[in-house]
Amino acid sequence: MKTAIITGGASGIGFAIAQKFVQQGIQSILIGRDEKKLKEACCTLGELAGCIQGDVTRLEELPSLVSDIKNKYGKIDILVNNAGIHLKKPFLEVTDEEYQRIILTNQVAVFSLTREVSRMMIPEKKGSIINISSMASQYGIPLVIAYTASKSAIEGMTRAMAVELSPLGIRVNCIAPGFIKTDMSSKALSNDPERKKKIYSRTPIGRLGTAEEVADAAWFFASDSSSYITGVVLPVDGGNSIGF
Ligand code: NDP
Repeated sequence: MKTAIITGGASGIGFAIAQKFVQQGIQSILIGRDEKKLKEACCTLGELAGCIQGDVTRLEELPSLVSDIKNKYGKIDILVNNAGIHLKKPFLEVTDEEYQRIILTNQVAVFSLTREVSRMMIPEKKGSIINISSMASQYGIPLVIAYTASKSAIEGMTRAMAVELSPLGIRVNCIAPGFIKTDMSSKALSNDPERKKKIYSRTPIGRLGTAEEVADAAWFFASDSSSYITGVVLPVDGGNSIGF
């Protein structure tokens, strides 16, 4: 049986990915800070789901977190770097601390966790790493300077990781979701009718996406259906990134 780690797997896009993986018979380990939310998610997902309360920004704890998972489940086949936080604020008002908090969660933690998990995957000569970026790295969106920097780094790291890890059997790919209906997007879009209007007007498919539609793409990258694909960024965005 395959084992997957999904950071931020208890809600939104991460939860939909966990649900898809469990349906496909993959043991899915969810990581998040909120223990209650994690337990509820695991209960809903059933016995193929496991949860570990953890904060990905506690970098020093990541090596033992990963080795505990490896010891318990035997191997790690899939890592989905999905946990992320958002900050909507004018560039000129963002403090250094706020900027660093976003970068630490969305970028540095992805670097550290992926390094640790890759070390576990190398002896198996097989693995799939799936990063989650955003439309913020495809074009300029106002009021999200730190988020944009972090997500642009994710796309660059995807390519840099792919060239080093693919010869060792580990594929690394990235999904760039468009505007997907989750708690994060409803917070970012509430009280901002202008932004909402703009999103709809440049999305050829004409609606927000669902977390399940992102999960389908994650399953593609996790499975052998994508066995010759590495280092790519796949927009799942209803055409938002090519809309006029
Ligand atoms: P949610 O806010 O619903 O989920 C984010 C998850 O990340 C939560 O489960 C949260 O759990 C977890 N998380 C946040 N910080 C940490 C941390 N330090 N350690 C461990 N877990 C953490 O957001 P979405 O589902 O919308 O977003 C998922 C990903 O998709 C993010 O990377 C986001 O940037 C990206 N994305 C989303 C889009 C959208 O339209 N929704 C568009 C483009 C990209 P907890 O709080 O319990 O720790």
